[in-house]
Amino acid sequence: MSKLPVIAIDGPAASGKGTIARRVAAAFGFAHLDTGTLYRAVALAVLRKGGDPSNPADADAAVRALDLSLLEDPALRAQTTSVAASKVAAIQSVRDELLAFQRGFAAHPPGGRGAVLDGRDIGTVICPNADAKLFVTATPEVRAHRRFLEHKANGTLITEAEVLADIRSRDARDSGREAAPLKQATDAHLLDTTHLDIEAATERALSIVRAALRT
Ligand code: C5P
Repeated sequence: MSKLPVIAIDGPAASGKGTIARRVAAAFGFAHLDTGTLYRAVALAVLRKGGDPSNPADADAAVRALDLSLLEDPALRAQTTSVAASKVAAIQSVRDELLAFQRGFAAHPPGGRGAVLDGRDIGTVICPNADAKLFVTATPEVRAHRRFLEHKANGTLITEAEVLADIRSRDARDSGREAAPLKQATDAHLLDTTHLDIEAATERALSIVRAALRT
């Protein structure tokens, strides 16, 4: 069987990459993996055991015993989990442990038609030979505003300034770490969503992917 199409979508928090990835997957009938949930699940397991997400021994124990049912846990989206996720994600051994699962998903996606993976290092490390790569970004202020509105709709009590501070510190940790830092792959298409709503951003993503899959 020839290789199935793989779409890599990377970018910082609240750039729109998750929604774009879901919609691209739905449009092509491909399976979607939000790889951030893997790091969030490891972080949640560490926190629930009373461990320290920056401590490699605690994070390694959690990733080795990872219970995939945690991927559905609503606590995955909590602010404390986001912060802890970016800490466990900086540990190389945690990333190594999650690599095979992600590559396996890309090679053998559920449904057998193709895969869309979104994260920070999909185009650079996990699937460097992806058929289409997108790097989705927006200014920190615009991303913080979007995330603040989501929190508000969910009834989470947090100020926009706090969300912005969290986004800036996660950006710094994700881009500054040695292990698979967040960066645009040289062959990725840049999609800046600062001045685009999600409909327009999705349209651009779809046309990039359509063009890539035709060639
Ligand atoms: O995308 P999301 O905000 O859910 O990711 C949570 C954290 O997981 C990020 O801040 C990042 O540190 C980490 N992550 C990563 N590599 C990925 C996906 C997420 O390092 N491929």
